[in-house]
Amino acid sequence: MAKMYYNNDINEATLQGKKIAVIGYGSQGHAHAQNLNESGFDVTVGIRPGKSFDKAEQDGLKVKTVKEAAAEADVIMILLPDERQKAVYEEEIAPGLQAGNSLVFAHGFNVHFGQIVPPADVDVFLVAPKGPGHLVRRTYEAGAGVPALFGIFQDATGNAKDLALAYAKGIGAARAGVIETTFKEETETDLFGEQAVLCGGTTALVKAGFETLVEAGYQPEIAYFECMHELKLIVDLMYEGGLANMRYSISDTAEWGDFVSGPRVIDASVKERMKDVLTDIQEGKFAKEWINENETNRPKYNAIKKAESEHQIEVVGDKLREMMPFVNNGKKIEKEVVHSA
Ligand code: NDP
Ligand code: MG
Ligand code: MG
Repeated sequence: MAKMYYNNDINEATLQGKKIAVIGYGSQGHAHAQNLNESGFDVTVGIRPGKSFDKAEQDGLKVKTVKEAAAEADVIMILLPDERQKAVYEEEIAPGLQAGNSLVFAHGFNVHFGQIVPPADVDVFLVAPKGPGHLVRRTYEAGAGVPALFGIFQDATGNAKDLALAYAKGIGAARAGVIETTFKEETETDLFGEQAVLCGGTTALVKAGFETLVEAGYQPEIAYFECMHELKLIVDLMYEGGLANMRYSISDTAEWGDFVSGPRVIDASVKERMKDVLTDIQEGKFAKEWINENETNRPKYNAIKKAESEHQIEVVGDKLREMMPFVNNGKKIEKEVVHSA
């Protein structure tokens, strides 16, 4: 069993009194900055002028340019999109770094794949929440938290572990549990999880189910309810008590269908392809292609995004959800700030 750290195991003294710069105010940034601030830490948001800047100010936080916030801070958390981090780090963060500062990430991508190479005299660690930023904020406000991983790449001060744990506690993650990892493990498992299961696997499964029913002549609205809407209820039951808890709640007929048909759909060949996906991640092939896609203005990304937004399941779903305002209960996330898992 991995060693778990909870609130009572963590002394925040090392981080108290330190100046923390949260760079970026998107999905993760707004949650980290607000949670740390409410946990009593000294936070400044570093962000370029624009929408995020205005929002951080409206939320009552101290806000500066990236360059200023980073130069003044002891602890610099980089919460920019992964593909922008290298350029912003080199131009606006690295010049102000001082020996003994801490450079922090929420995902190991840039350090692990050699895009950002920090100097040897700063701490480099990650605190990676295992959930979307909006949940990091929402659960904190509710007195709960999203679990997180921490990992140390470089411990120049000898305090990296204490700082990482204190940071995790400050964002509320130690209410749910914090586990130690490495940049390699966090990066590879995070990319695999979002590609094969959480985002890629799930969206592909939902669309395949929806299309199968619609192509067989069933009403798209019914296919939507079956393959997308109900998924939340099922996943909530798994989240609360595992697979057995979900199966306890469904009918025995559904459970029997789960046992006999689930493995027909997700069979050994799927696992073989999952292994291929994992290999591409481990060997850096995925990273290389994504970096290249960004350097060429995202031709494939943009084309796929457009086609996906026009998929029948989205069109039907938009209409049905208009009549169910309670499904997002005022918690609808602004579309422009929804990003990677
Ligand atoms: P977002 O895309 O949501 O946020 C990006 C923020 O960066 C925005 O505030 C944006 O401001 C700002 N920004 C973009 N470019 C620049 C720039 N050139 N200079 C200054 N600010 C800029 O990012 P995420 O929160 O999704 O991701 C941040 C990190 O967290 C990543 O490393 C990601 O892998 C990791 N992570 C994300 C998770 C998630 O839930 N999304 C989960 C776990 C980890 P503007 O409004 O001006 O564009
Ligand atoms: Mg993730
Ligand atoms: Mg991710």
